[in-house]
Parts: sequence; C-alpha cells; structure tokens
Amino acid sequence: MAIAKVEPLTTARALRGPFDYRLPERLADVGVGTVLVVPFGHRRVLGVVVELAEQSALPPERLAEPISALAAGAPAELVRLGLWVAREYCSTPARGLELVLPPGTASARGQLKARSRLLAEATAEAAAALEGGPGLGPRQRRALELLLAAPAPLAAAELAAEGISRDTLRRLEGRGLVSLVEREAGRRPANTAIGAPASPVTLDPAQRAAVERIVAGIDGDGGQLLLHGVTGSGKTEVYLAAAQAALDRGLGVIVLVPEIGMTPQALTRFRSRFGDRVAVLHSRLGAGERRDEWHRLRSGEARVCVGPRSAIFAPLSGLGLIVVDEEHDPSYKQEGDPRYDAREVARRRADEAGAMLVMGSATPRPESWLGLERVELAERVDGRSLPSVEIVDMRGRDGREGPLHPITRAALGSLRAAGGKGIVMVNRRGWSWHLSCHSCGRAWGCPQCDVSLIVHRDSGDLRCHHCGHAEPLPGSCPDCGSVSLARAGSGSERIETLIAELIAPLRVFRLDSDSAARQGGHLAILAEFQAAESGVLVGTQMVAKGHDFPDVVLAVVIDADAALRFPDFRAEERTFALVSQLAGRSGRGARSGRVVVQTLAPGAAAIRHAAEHDTAGFLAGELGRRRELAYPPYSHLIRIEITGAGAPRVAAAAAGLRDALDAGLPADARALGPAPRFRLRGRERSQILVKAGERAPAVAAVRAAVDTAATARELKDLAVSVDVDAQ
Ligand code: ADP
Ligand code: ZN
Ligand code: ZN
Repeated sequence: MAIAKVEPLTTARALRGPFDYRLPERLADVGVGTVLVVPFGHRRVLGVVVELAEQSALPPERLAEPISALAAGAPAELVRLGLWVAREYCSTPARGLELVLPPGTASARGQLKARSRLLAEATAEAAAALEGGPGLGPRQRRALELLLAAPAPLAAAELAAEGISRDTLRRLEGRGLVSLVEREAGRRPANTAIGAPASPVTLDPAQRAAVERIVAGIDGDGGQLLLHGVTGSGKTEVYLAAAQAALDRGLGVIVLVPEIGMTPQALTRFRSRFGDRVAVLHSRLGAGERRDEWHRLRSGEARVCVGPRSAIFAPLSGLGLIVVDEEHDPSYKQEGDPRYDAREVARRRADEAGAMLVMGSATPRPESWLGLERVELAERVDGRSLPSVEIVDMRGRDGREGPLHPITRAALGSLRAAGGKGIVMVNRRGWSWHLSCHSCGRAWGCPQCDVSLIVHRDSGDLRCHHCGHAEPLPGSCPDCGSVSLARAGSGSERIETLIAELIAPLRVFRLDSDSAARQGGHLAILAEFQAAESGVLVGTQMVAKGHDFPDVVLAVVIDADAALRFPDFRAEERTFALVSQLAGRSGRGARSGRVVVQTLAPGAAAIRHAAEHDTAGFLAGELGRRRELAYPPYSHLIRIEITGAGAPRVAAAAAGLRDALDAGLPADARALGPAPRFRLRGRERSQILVKAGERAPAVAAVRAAVDTAATARELKDLAVSVDVDAQ
C-alpha cells in the first residue's frame, strides 16, 4: 500500500504531524513536495507530502484518502530545507514549508493560474472561404480579413477591440478556418536600472585569485569562504565571474542581497551579463510575476536567482554557488515567525547541495571573521585610495548651535564651491525625536507603546515609529497651556532643511521611508540623485548601503554614536559597519573622497577603527570582548518573548515558562529573566533569554518547553515567539 505522510498547512503549534493518508491509484504520481487537498477532521485543508512510505502504524481502514493533488509542488530537497528551518528556529512545519512552496499556494487555497493569451491564426482554407464561400456572417468575414492581413497570429484580446468575440473565433475554428492556441504569457518583472551597467572588466590579480579559489570549491565538494574586500574593491565583479563559471558547468546560482531596495542594482549587473537566465524573487513582485519567476527557476529556464533573504529558497536544482553579498547586513534575519537567518539557511543549503558559499563584505561579522576561510581584496580597483576620515567631537556643544558642526558646514560649503556630490546619513527619520513642554515637563509618548512620539513636520503630526499611531502636532500643552514646547534631536527632515539652506542652489535629495513612500519608491530618488550633476543625498541608513556612485566625494555621518547607545551587544558591530559603509560611498571615482563623522563618542573603538579603515583591528578587539562576556560567536542566544494583554498574566506565564525551561535545559545553557520589555502596540511583553554553549540541544529544550506551554491553559490568548540567534 502506498502511504503519504502529510504535514497540514495549519499553524496550530499544538498539532503533531505528519499524518498518514492512503494513496489511491489515481494519485500514483504523488511525491515528496506534492501539495494535496486532504480531509482533516471536519475540514478540508492543504497539506504537503513530506515522505512516502509502504506502511502506516494505523490500520488501512482508519486512513483517509486525499481528495486531490495540486499541479505544482515543491522540490523534495526544499521540503527537507523547509522542515529544517522549522526545527532549527522553533517554528511549525507548516510555517517552514510555506517558505518553499510555489508562491500563492497557501494563501490562495489553490494555485494562481498562469495568465494565458488566446492567439488566433487564419488557416490555409480561410482565403478561399472569404472569396466565395457562403454562410459567413459579417463578424466572421471581418475576423478573417484581419487575420489574413496580419503578419503574425493575433491575440483574442486585440480582436475583441474590433468587436470580434471569442465565440466568433470558436465558430470559425469549428469550420476549420481559424486555428486557436493558448499561449502562456510570461510576466517579467520590470527593472529600473540604477548604478553602472556591467561592461566586462579585466579582473586584477586579487580578484582573479578570489575567483580561482571559488571555482576550485565549485569543482570540488563546495565549501564556505568569506570574501573580505574593502569598499569599492570589486567584489561584485568576483561574484559575476564565479557565477559565469558555475553556469559554464551547468550549475545554478543564488545571489542574496541585503534588501529589496538593493535588488534592482544587483539585478541590473547580473542581467546585463547573463540576460534571461537571471530570475528575481522578492515579496514586492506582483503575485503573478512571483509565480512566473518561480516556475522559470523550477523548470530550469532561469539558472540564476537574485533577491533578498527569501531568495535562498529559490527552486533551483543542481546548485553550484550561493553568494551572500554584504553578509553583515541585519536584514538577513527574518523578523516574523519563522525567524530564520538566511545566512544560516544558505550554509545548510550549500552543504546539502555540495555548492560553494561565498559571504562577501567590507565589514564582516565577528562570526564570519572567526569561523570562515578568508579571501582578501585589500585595495580599491584602479589603485584608488580609501577616503580620509575626520572625526568631529560634538561633546559640550550648546543645543542652540544646531546639529551641524562648523567643520561639517565647511565641508558641505566646499561641495557647493567645487561641485560634486555628497551623502549624509542621519539616524532617524522625521523632524525631531522628542517633544516636551518647557513649563511642566510633559512628554509626548505613544498611547500604545512605551516610546516617544517623533515630530514630523512634512505631514504636520506626531508619529510612533513602532505602531504607526499618529496625532496632530499640538500648538500648546494640554496640561498647562504653555506654548513653549521643546523639540530634541534632529531627524532627516530637519537635516534636509538645514543642508538645503547651506548648499543652495545645489539640490538636496531626501531618502527615507517617508520620502520613498511619497516619491515613487526609493529607487526613483536614487535615480534622480544619480542623474543630477551635483547635490546631496540625505537619509537614514539606506543611504549607506552598497551604492556605487562614482561622483560622490563627501560622506557625512551626523550622529555616529546613536546606535552605540542601544543596550545591545551588537551595537559596536553595527556602528562600525554603518560608519565604514557610509565612508565607503565616498571617492569611488577619479576624485578622491572625504568623510566627516560627527559623534559624542569620539573615543569609541567602533568609530576610531572605522575612521582608520581597520577592520582587522576592530574585529580583534570585538572578538576579545565577546569571548570575555561569553557572547556570540562564543555562545548562542535564544530569545523567548511572551506577549498579550495584562501585565500580571504575561509575567505569570513567563515565570511558568522559565520553570519549564530550567527543568529541561542542558548543562551548558542557562536562562535569564523573565524581564519585562517596553509595551508595543498595546501589548505587554516579557522576555526570557537563553545563553547556551551548544546550539542544537538548547534549541531542542526550548522547543519542548514552548510546545508544552502552547497547550497549557495559562497561555491561552498569549503569544509566544522564539528567536534563535536573536539579533
Ligand atoms: P564592491 O562590490 O567591492 O564595492 P564593485 O564590484 O561594485 O565593488 O566595483 C566598484 C566599481 O569598480 C564598479 O563600478 C566596477 O565596475 C568597477 N570595477 C570592479 N572591478 C574592476 C576591474 N578589475 N577593473 C576596472 N573596474 C573595475
Ligand atoms: Zn505643559
Ligand atoms: Zn506606538
């Protein structure tokens, strides 16, 4: 008897699959990865076949038969990967599997149909029929005339515009005068070109050595390495050459880029080298486009996939190479359940496929520096030098002097005098970070979250950056009536205004999620900045990421230490990466670059080392500190968060979970907390942190405790989320 073991696509944590179904003859070609419609209790649900078997532990008469099978499923190797993600990140099998299924499977409860076009063509008999034959209606005559005159088949949609219906065409088809074919109309995502098109370059010796090392891995058993190349050292050219080598060997390639926003730039370079063999997968594609690109990869028509983190699940067979560009970027970690890290998934996938994994960055993570073989690109291409960096001490300045130091003002001023472009990075969007009353001290906070509201002048309101709450900007204090309200901190709107005054008539382009939402996406803004003769791009962290504009000669960081003030052990690492990356945007062309870093912490290691372009020095110090404190990569952190209404209930549930954990954790792991966290979207939160030596046993213990808790009464209406390798 043929048995299919099926994981139902339902999200209930308490459900223990897979469940056995008996396969009838009509479903003989069901395999691992097939999506079935199955009876489940009193419902019908979708389920994924995760295994085939000969026998079941249950007697045959207790097994149900699936109702039907969907046409498209996932490749077997991706089913294994999806289940691995579910296990590794304490999620459910359904959530893990949803990552690898054809787009639309789970949400549409049925597959999105391929969009097809009906094409009509006149047959050999058509001309004669039109000449003499009787019995043709006026519509039919008109249809034949048009079809005979056309050099190629016409779409039914075009004919409809002439008043000729599909019925008319069908009737002509019945008489043998017209032939009709359905053709699938491929939807190909449009691509706005940003950045230099990839005319092939001659690789320099360091690039060549890197490519040779990667190709040796592709030809061998795969492996993993870190490509550490300073900004502008030509890493992308190395990826392109390595991808070429993989394609030459008939192997597939995945290229991960940090954010959807970076996809078009990478896509442009890969498309101009490899054309239609490149597909793109990301969540902002239309549902139809996503489905078509997925199937182009699945069928082997496309052999390179470019995209943000979810592209690691691209249905490519015969994988030879995975590239993770800007591997330090936090966006590789998924924020919702399953909270997977695409870099870890990439390691797993490369391992299973025997593919080569290349992690590239100018500012690698301590984890990669410690754990991976390293290949260096130590110089910028064409002998260009790294820009000189000036640290500007902002301590002891009077608030009335404004957020721009005289040195910064002078640097921007010289931009106006000499022409060229500048990029300015600000920590936060909005006008100012905090509003309070001078007279009574009232501070404006979010009613849903325990955070300050941000002043937005563009839209004239106060907004919460966590939950989206907005209220009108007050003219006076509702508590004491005072009109003397104080604003503190400078966001992108305010810096934009100040710089515009300073550099007029040069233009300022603002890039943050507010301006992007209004001005047709941030690509449109970047394209404008690129096309402009000169000007300054002001924005949040987005401006630091990977752009290659050769005419940028000045980069400014307004508040380099802002990230350092977060109580997070990765704050130093983030700050180093941000300042180095922003500096790396400057001086990539013929003119040498300059960088100004304003900070309240001029002595901080992250800032000093970034100014000296000293990655090795920074990472040596940082790894020493991590080792002393037993932080990753010398341990693993698992964060468990309980959220819900009512602080006492949340606290009690967290305490219960802590007890369950204590009973099950391995000897090298220990739990910290529960500790309350600030309220978010009206929900109370409590957090337990597990610090473990070895990862797998600790994850297993946490999973067991959470699964048990999920069925317990105390946790009803509360949500538990687990974040393995929390950021
Ligand atoms: P990275 O990714 O390391 O920042 P890129 O690959 O974007 O660097 O390269 C920076 C610029 O230098 C690009 O415009 C690229 O076309 C150019 N470039 C890269 N390698 C070479 C080379 N060997 N010769 C000439 N130009 C190169
Ligand atoms: Zn007041
Ligand atoms: Zn809020």
